[in-house]
Amino acid sequence: RIVLQSVSDASGESLKGIAMTIQDLTREVELNAAQSRFISNVSHELRTPLCNIKSYVETLHDLGDQLSEEEKREFLGIANAEADRLTRLVNDVLDLSRLESEREWNLEPLELAPAIEQILRTYRLNADEKGVSLAFEADPQLPRILGNWDLLLQVFDNLVGNALKFTPKGGRLQLRAYPWPDLCVLTPGNEPSSDSPSCDLTSPLPRIRIEISDSGCGISDADQECIFDRFYRVENAVHTEAGTGLGLSIVRGNLEKHGTQVRMASALGVGSTFWFDLPLENSDTDELRLLAERR
Ligand code: ADP
Repeated sequence: RIVLQSVSDASGESLKGIAMTIQDLTREVELNAAQSRFISNVSHELRTPLCNIKSYVETLHDLGDQLSEEEKREFLGIANAEADRLTRLVNDVLDLSRLESEREWNLEPLELAPAIEQILRTYRLNADEKGVSLAFEADPQLPRILGNWDLLLQVFDNLVGNALKFTPKGGRLQLRAYPWPDLCVLTPGNEPSSDSPSCDLTSPLPRIRIEISDSGCGISDADQECIFDRFYRVENAVHTEAGTGLGLSIVRGNLEKHGTQVRMASALGVGSTFWFDLPLENSDTDELRLLAERR
């Protein structure tokens, strides 16, 4: 876009010249296109549960006296589950839009291990019922991190929730939190494993690594390319598990606000590990903000 502007003197009377500004609108055009795609996806996703609710409620209303008690209960159950799906979807969309509209997030010093313990308490019951073991291992001298607990809570909820959802009976889910050296650049073959280097707390370590592993169904290489896309769900998950396909986009967005990224390694039939590195309490917030903006 080229903008031409006349430039006058201080009194605004005599013309001094013409200023020309050239603006690159590529990013703006791309963002507008992404916004339109998002709105059309959201509308489509909202329509499905709404149509289902309407058709089951309509059937109950119009033909209720011809249905057995069991059929009525079944139809009400479906309408209720679809209403839950709608709620999840609206909440996720609101979270995403809040992430996009608020540029500044308050990061404050946080004690990570007790906070994670508290989240896991809410998942332990589900894990026990499902017959999945749930373990958390944290370095006893874990330094404090700089984070926003509201955002991190959603990260843990989504990653732990997914791990539990996609791990069958008899499986295991493990969380680990430990300091991680700065110079580690994640490349294929450098993913975390049970023999990750042990950590030396005497040397200054810039980040805390969080790892969430499961022995669940795993994700194929092709699906790994797409699972962070909005609304993407692996084919088998669509039929077997409740979800919106927005969880991992929220995880990615929330971690970007901490100047960090989520990574994953997975193998079909073996399980998945998701991990990310959080900044330490004394990190430079301006630098983190810059990193967040660059992503
Ligand atoms: P959903 O609401 O479907 O869980 P997400 O964005 O959180 O949406 O995840 C996208 C898809 O990635 C899921 O539908 C599932 O197919 C796959 N996925 C995510 N986490 C795991 C996991 N731990 N194990 C296996 N598949 C997973």
